Amino acid sequence: MAPTQDTADRQSRLREAAVQVALRTGLLKRCPVHGEVYDPGQHDYQGACMVAGYLVNQSDPLVAAFQDDRVPLTDLLRTLCRGYGSTCPRCSAVAGG
Ligand SMILES: [Zn+2]
Repeated sequence: MAPTQDTADRQSRLREAAVQVALRTGLLKRCPVHGEVYDPGQHDYQGACMVAGYLVNQSDPLVAAFQDDRVPLTDLLRTLCRGYGSTCPRCSAVAGG
């Protein structure tokens, strides 16, 4: 097991947890039809950080991967939305029907 692989695994776990927090706070939305995550463009980053801090303080299992450190979580929340479109990509694909 290479250390780089371990780091990559940890990074993906942190990212997955951050996506879950973003979904819970409304920063990201999940299409009820396709399950695709998208960015509704609300960008309530402050509100999301408040919830993130609360979850970390409560030692919520959702954020267990961050081990009581909210900084990497809020950092991820800040950059997370850039990777997503403003609508579900599969809804967009079938739009016009
Ligand atoms: Zn969809």
